[in-house]
Amino acid sequence: MEARAEGTMSYEFVWFKKDLRIHDHAALTHAARHGKVLGLIILEPEWFRSPEFDSSHYVFFSECVLELQEDLRACGVPLLIVTGEAVEALQKVHETYGISQLHSHEETGLFWTYQRDIRVKKWVRTQNIPWFEYRQFGVIRGLKNRDRWAEGRSKILYRPLFRAPNQSWPSEIHPAPPILPTLTDLSLPPSSKRYAQRGGRKTGEKVLATFLEERGKHYLESLSSPSRSVNGCGRVSPYLTWGALSISEILEKVATKKEQLGDHPIHKSWRSSLEHFESRLAWHCHFIQKLESEPEIEFENMNRSFDGMRENEFNQEFFEAWCEGRTGFPIIDAGMRALHQTGWINFRLRATLMSFASYQLWLHWRKPAQFLARQFVDFEPGIHLSQVQMQSGVTGINSIRIYSPKKQALEKDPSGEFIRKYCPELASLPNNDLAEPHHIPPLLGGSLGFIPGENYPNPIVDPEASYHEAKERIFQWHQKSNVRAEAKMVYQKHGSRDRNRRGARS
Ligand SMILES: Cc1cc2nc3c(=O)[nH]c(=O)nc-3n(C[C@H](O)[C@H](O)[C@H](O)COP(=O)(O)OP(=O)(O)OC[C@H]3O[C@@H](n4cnc5c(N)ncnc54)[C@H](O)[C@@H]3O)c2cc1C
Repeated sequence: MEARAEGTMSYEFVWFKKDLRIHDHAALTHAARHGKVLGLIILEPEWFRSPEFDSSHYVFFSECVLELQEDLRACGVPLLIVTGEAVEALQKVHETYGISQLHSHEETGLFWTYQRDIRVKKWVRTQNIPWFEYRQFGVIRGLKNRDRWAEGRSKILYRPLFRAPNQSWPSEIHPAPPILPTLTDLSLPPSSKRYAQRGGRKTGEKVLATFLEERGKHYLESLSSPSRSVNGCGRVSPYLTWGALSISEILEKVATKKEQLGDHPIHKSWRSSLEHFESRLAWHCHFIQKLESEPEIEFENMNRSFDGMRENEFNQEFFEAWCEGRTGFPIIDAGMRALHQTGWINFRLRATLMSFASYQLWLHWRKPAQFLARQFVDFEPGIHLSQVQMQSGVTGINSIRIYSPKKQALEKDPSGEFIRKYCPELASLPNNDLAEPHHIPPLLGGSLGFIPGENYPNPIVDPEASYHEAKERIFQWHQKSNVRAEAKMVYQKHGSRDRNRRGARS
């Protein structure tokens, strides 16, 4: 970048982070009301170094950025792409182009983003540059307690959408689009997720449209099935995480669909599916609000009375077997292997994997949380950390759920379709033996050429004993008076007050 001459123009800068769209983009619309706009993407090495980062995130992000670049070009807004630490990058940009005001969306992210925002705040102050941060989710900064949160969320999200601006391309800015570095340029490994969802707004719009036109009809029946959920769930999560779609525009489209369906009894189950989908979109903000209100939950138990429960018992071998999908529990291994390949599994499987790591393997949640964060293309810190802690039983305000892998396999994958797909070494086994292949009668195993422990691992822990031991230990902790006292405070700060929320979870 060349240094800017004295007295030359300066611009309204929109700093795009996890809001990679031009539609319903508060920061972009507001910036354009003040003057000529330039867009900015900062590729921060801290992101690539963070233990939650995976190359698949960058692939999805890049696909979104390439479309964003095109969409911005159509409204006359150049997009600059700079690699470096945020303050250094902003300094360079300011010297070259001049930042008159900075606009971005609020971000509820990991500790490193929080620290970076503090540094940026300090820098803009020293430069006399106003920095406007706009909300994109129903998340409220500085919220004292949850008493009126649901109302606040609705006010933020149910509103007219922001329109993309239209300006003439600034003649002093070179028309050639800047090149987004590839993974190789950034010395990052290729993504191993061969079947991950494709990024970009256009794909996101199609995903939403097919859900609202057809796929969503069977949302409720397919939600918990590992196979059917692939098509039956909304699948909008990565587009929300990276901001290719806004939550308000999704809610608006759901409302339009509900209006089209009307009250006719024939559409009762369709409407019910859409209402459940809407309530899950409310959970999205509900869980992100927890991290916003208490950033410490990235590192600390939400209920501090659980400190010491698992920290000193971390079994690295169990952890590695869990990460690699070779625990000897087919639904766990199939779920993990599906995640390796696709970067997505449904809610029930995520909960089952996390619960298994926390209870049967008695692993503290932090390392499993980081591992799963790398696997999820839709990794959203606020949802992820809150869910991880819930499934580990360290909030004190949620009912304890210890999933039995055998029961989950039999109930959620009765035909064995999912297990067979991701554990092909079990493909020849009859349905009855798929949940617990180590129990296959030796004669039958022999005739199928299947030897437990050779073709597929034996369970790394005793299924019954590990389940009962974990149950006893967690219930004992829950009985402690300090756990219950602390739980009241946790509820005060984070608990849902919305009694009507479907399948409400605190
Ligand atoms: C341990 C664990 C970790 C998770 N980590 C993430 C994460 O990093 N990112 C993420 O987006 N979701 C996470 N979830 C929540 C949930 O599993 C996913 O949002 C959902 O599977 C995404 O698929 P979908 O878009 O098809 O969801 P749909 O069922 O179609 O729901 C629509 C949207 O509602 C929201 N939503 C749905 N379920 C939940 C939920 N339980 N909590 C909060 N919001 C919800 C999501 O934004 C989702 O995209 C996690 C769940 C668990 C148990």
